[in-house]
Amino acid sequence: MNLHTVFFDLDSTLYPESNGMWEKIRQRIDLYMHKRLGLSYEAIPELRHDYFVNYGTTLRGLQAHFGIDQQEYLDFVHDLPLDEYLHPEPQLRQILLSIPYPRWIFTNSDLDHVQRVLSKMEIQDCFDGIVDVWALDPYCKPQREAYQRALELARAPDPHECAFLDDSIRNLTPAHEAGFFTVLVGQNGAHPAADRTIDNIHVLRDGVPELWIEND
Ligand SMILES: [Mg+2]
Repeated sequence: MNLHTVFFDLDSTLYPESNGMWEKIRQRIDLYMHKRLGLSYEAIPELRHDYFVNYGTTLRGLQAHFGIDQQEYLDFVHDLPLDEYLHPEPQLRQILLSIPYPRWIFTNSDLDHVQRVLSKMEIQDCFDGIVDVWALDPYCKPQREAYQRALELARAPDPHECAFLDDSIRNLTPAHEAGFFTVLVGQNGAHPAADRTIDNIHVLRDGVPELWIEND
């Protein structure tokens, strides 16, 4: 494999789901649907499941059905004290910086949230670019168009020369089918759509040595 670019998901990939932040974001999404849209808490789980399956994210479903404002939604759901969940990650920073290829964030989240998370972890200088929900608009992972858009933005011509790390099998599957080298982060066990599986991002170097093999 000749590598060209490495794409990283953000949430629950660069930090562990177990830190509790993503659960808080989920709760704020419910709060948004209840307070802003007047939906009952009983109706929300089924709606969110429906939007997740049919639109990729709750945001895209709410845009389709309620015409909500994307920026206002994102500001609301990410309004959290990040210091409680994230802290500087000097070891991770060294690992990322040692990967000898361009590194990009590829996320369904938005640029403000990405920059705040990276800056709390002090790894913002580890990335050459960010593909966020605005850049993907109107698509998002796992829609195929989102992967094509990410490749174009990163000037990465061939998915066979790209690696992609994500905590979601659903997001890895289209990438794997398109030819990306895929890494499942944070879940135990193998999966056909994952070329490698690691428990957490800190074991990347041992778990995925392919990212350090220099091209001929
Ligand atoms: Mg994720």
